[in-house]
Amino acid sequence: TSNTLRSYHPHLPKLIAVVAVGGGGFVAYNTLNGSNTVDPSVKKKRVVVLGTGWAGTSFLKDLDSSQYDIQVVSPRNYFAFTPLLPSVTCGTVEPRSIVEPIRNIMKKKGGDIGFLEAECFKIDPQNKSVHCRSVKQANLEGKEEFIVDYDYLVVAMGARSNTFNTPGVEEHTHFLKEIEDAQNIRRNVIDCFEKASLPNLTEEERKKNLHFVVVGGGPTGVEFAAELHDYIKKDLSKLYPTVKDLVKITLLEAADHILGMFDKRITEFAEEKFQRDGIDVKLGSMVVKVTDKDICTKEKSKEGVSSIPYGMIVWSTGIGTRPVISEFMKQVGQVNRRALATDEWLRVDGSDSIYALGDCASINQRKVMDDIADIFKKADKDNSGTLTVKELQDVVNDICERYPQVQLYMKNKSMKNIVQLLEESKGDNEKESKELDIERFKSALSAVDSKMKFLPATAQVAAQQGQYLAKCFNRMNECEQTPEGPLRMRKDGRHRFHPFRYRHLGQFAPLGGEQTAFQLPGDHVSIGYSSQWLWYSVYASKQVSWRNRMLVVSDWTRRFIYGRDSSRI
Ligand code: FAD
Repeated sequence: TSNTLRSYHPHLPKLIAVVAVGGGGFVAYNTLNGSNTVDPSVKKKRVVVLGTGWAGTSFLKDLDSSQYDIQVVSPRNYFAFTPLLPSVTCGTVEPRSIVEPIRNIMKKKGGDIGFLEAECFKIDPQNKSVHCRSVKQANLEGKEEFIVDYDYLVVAMGARSNTFNTPGVEEHTHFLKEIEDAQNIRRNVIDCFEKASLPNLTEEERKKNLHFVVVGGGPTGVEFAAELHDYIKKDLSKLYPTVKDLVKITLLEAADHILGMFDKRITEFAEEKFQRDGIDVKLGSMVVKVTDKDICTKEKSKEGVSSIPYGMIVWSTGIGTRPVISEFMKQVGQVNRRALATDEWLRVDGSDSIYALGDCASINQRKVMDDIADIFKKADKDNSGTLTVKELQDVVNDICERYPQVQLYMKNKSMKNIVQLLEESKGDNEKESKELDIERFKSALSAVDSKMKFLPATAQVAAQQGQYLAKCFNRMNECEQTPEGPLRMRKDGRHRFHPFRYRHLGQFAPLGGEQTAFQLPGDHVSIGYSSQWLWYSVYASKQVSWRNRMLVVSDWTRRFIYGRDSSRI
């Protein structure tokens, strides 16, 4: 099986075909020389894309705009390169260097693409429409409401920061999710230094102002703490010499380690490096409340709650569901989920015209589990309900083949975890038999899965899903014309396209001091200065336009020569 969509019909007549398409009118397109040029006099189906983030933008960039009437709705009229947001918080790169106006992308594509700067507040699948409201801007009240109809809806609205309903978080902490968040953090860091430098303050007050607390030891929290440490050490301590010794950075993490999703070697290196750098990493520390003066934490190792005075808090504890998505999930009978469940073709469960991708979606775990059970049953040739460890390993390979998105976990940590969990679940007296039954296998898999999602919420996943879906859409009309063609291609005849396959390319964790950790698929890990240079080249190459690439590289060069800018503008 290959990663690309299979050619659906090798012997199509080379002529202009006109086909009736349900509900949306007629589409005519020319298959001459394999091109799908659409007859302009014919009504095209409308695709509404909600969101201009990683998923929405990569979908738009690859979609054949001549085939559809495309309408993009998003409260922000630009794409933001989120992996460089932590660098914006400290002025290492400028905000405008990492954003690309969505209208630039649309202009390059040509075709029927419209953009509405608005947020969708309701999805109405019965009437195939979305209800939108203009965003509150300087000259707009944010009250104008309108309805946009769709033939196909692509939901790529991302997620919001998760506060776990901790009191005071919304009011007193900074999130790090959007460009504005990064800009506010940058201003606030300087504010804290300026405030601490005013006369008539006690030493305690100065210390409080210069206490920076980062909540969450995931990649974003860790990268921000490392950036801030570099900024203070290399730039601010020279500009604020009288208060530099009062600065403190604390990183609070509820789990036992930071960077829990990375290899143990990276976690250990990061914890040791932070210790050397003087960043106070408090593990097993859960934030229970935030007030305007203190952050209250409950430590695993201690009784009671401790209060820590702070100058600024950055909250980065993962993602939660946007209210409009929660509301839509209720409508389509998906309850108690963090993200919209889709099938492996990214169609929202129970709908054939709504697709969801990126952080707001997740491939339906129940279906994956059922398929995994089928694979297990097929491997159990003697019908005993048990498999040997060798057979189990074949099953795992089979699962990886079928669900490459599981591969990352299976092949790295989870394969080990699964076998370990299976061993544990058997109990001592069974260890010798090396036989494992399906229920134990499934519960072990669920246990692994509850710790690690089948697909991580990353830009890599979102971008690949966008590209995949665009390819499907580019062939949709072609496939509708001869439905028998693509169906013949799949043995089980379930769908005309290949299911989505995630290809994990590795993950970076910048740790400050020009050192980065890099984890490749498999057990490969690289940590240090060389990975930092790899990080620079990968992130420069991944920019969406040459304009962004040049701006980002020139920001890095400026920082090397002149340091970061500390004006509070
Ligand atoms: P987003 O990129 O968040 O886009 C969502 C879009 O929907 C936005 O345009 C938003 O304006 C729009 N929207 C919101 N509400 C509505 C509405 N009501 N109606 C219409 N549109 C709406 N991933 C990596 O792989 N590598 C990294 O190094 C990395 N670093 C990160 C650093 C930070 C600081 C952050 C915050 C994230 C990082 N990520 C990284 C994760 C990555 O950014 C996300 O996984 C990715 O952005 C998800 O893409 P998305 O399109 O689903 O959502």
